[in-house]
Amino acid sequence: MYASPSTPLFLRGVRLIDPHASVDVITDLLVTPTAVVRDPAAVPDHARVVDGRGLWALPGLVDIQVHFRQPGFEYKETIESGSAAALAGGICTVVVMPNTQPRLDTPQQVEFEAAEARRVRGVDLLVAAASTRNLDGQQLTDHAVLKAAGAVAITDDGYPVLDDDLMRGSLEQCAALDLLFMQHAEDIRMTRHAPMTDSPASVALGVPGQSSDAEGVIVERDIALTRETGARYHVLHTSTARSIAAIRSAKAEGLSVTCEVSPHHLLLTYDACAGGDPNTKMNPPLRSEYDRQALIVALADGTVDAVATDHAPHTREEKAKGFEDAPFGVIGLETAFAALLSFVHDGTITDTRAVELMTSGPARVLGRQGRLGTLGADAPVHLTVVDPSREWTVTEDGMAGKCTNSAFLGRMFKGKVVATVLHGELRYADGLG
Ligand SMILES: [Zn+2]
Repeated sequence: MYASPSTPLFLRGVRLIDPHASVDVITDLLVTPTAVVRDPAAVPDHARVVDGRGLWALPGLVDIQVHFRQPGFEYKETIESGSAAALAGGICTVVVMPNTQPRLDTPQQVEFEAAEARRVRGVDLLVAAASTRNLDGQQLTDHAVLKAAGAVAITDDGYPVLDDDLMRGSLEQCAALDLLFMQHAEDIRMTRHAPMTDSPASVALGVPGQSSDAEGVIVERDIALTRETGARYHVLHTSTARSIAAIRSAKAEGLSVTCEVSPHHLLLTYDACAGGDPNTKMNPPLRSEYDRQALIVALADGTVDAVATDHAPHTREEKAKGFEDAPFGVIGLETAFAALLSFVHDGTITDTRAVELMTSGPARVLGRQGRLGTLGADAPVHLTVVDPSREWTVTEDGMAGKCTNSAFLGRMFKGKVVATVLHGELRYADGLG
């Protein structure tokens, strides 16, 4: 089912959608190890020919928030297994978060991630390094040293940077170095790590609830600090109407503020937690229908820059501890684009907008527009092929990573990734012609 590395792939009559290049055409595509060629003059005899009619060919998808768990938690996921999950979801480039063990708070650890990704022939891996040492919110890391080691962003994800002075200091370093700051916006003095949003569902389940305002207060504070420092500031896994309102007005003001949303916050509310399924426990937690609708409006009106998974694998044993004691987090790589297509099928967003949210959108957040999330001489030869009308059901067996803690198990999606080309090589195929 997999072509050998030297076999070019020829897609006949495929729809090529590349929002960055304003391309949306039906074309023949020849994918070689070094280029994606439109309407090639000749097709090599040994090419694998696929009937592309009805399929979409997209620049390889980009996911700017994943947890690959290596080093320290290899039993949950590794860079190799996480890459397999990513490829199954059509994702060719990821940004990994620093809450590994040890933390990604030294140049050695930053360099290890990229080196390990190359060693296992994983997806293109970019590192968001720690804002504070050991992510403990006490002492800032030397951001310049982390950038020199290859870090593209700074975050304490898993945790917020709570202290105002530390946050200002981190943003000042980011501004001076042109590094992106990515915030896990949660005032933990308000949430106290409560397992879900304060709601009828938390009451029914008998677990502590947290106020959804705990996110917006941090976003609002950070926007004031962004105005002061001129840094590029990004909100990870944005989940509330209050946060969206603050981000929308910051953008209108011209600040360098961006945000992402996760498929689970777009498709689910805290009502999904009512049965106590630990695979509906994540951080930030599922919110109200009011919040969900605000995310959907922002998805459609351009306020949201990217869809990112916050792929957070945990084992069955860990999740079996019950709703209150199970760790926060769900996986998302295999299902992200299919989940996003739900909003194309119901008419909320256009197909081009959906593609943008996982290609040129995240590339722009990273300051890599034209070099990532598009097809062109300056970008890697990454291609994702999607059958937008294929219906499939999310199952544990269908997961390519180590863990199966998806909030979407049993759900039917319309639209599936059928092939993923990484650096010119077909690395994933599922029912491809
Ligand atoms: Zn987070």
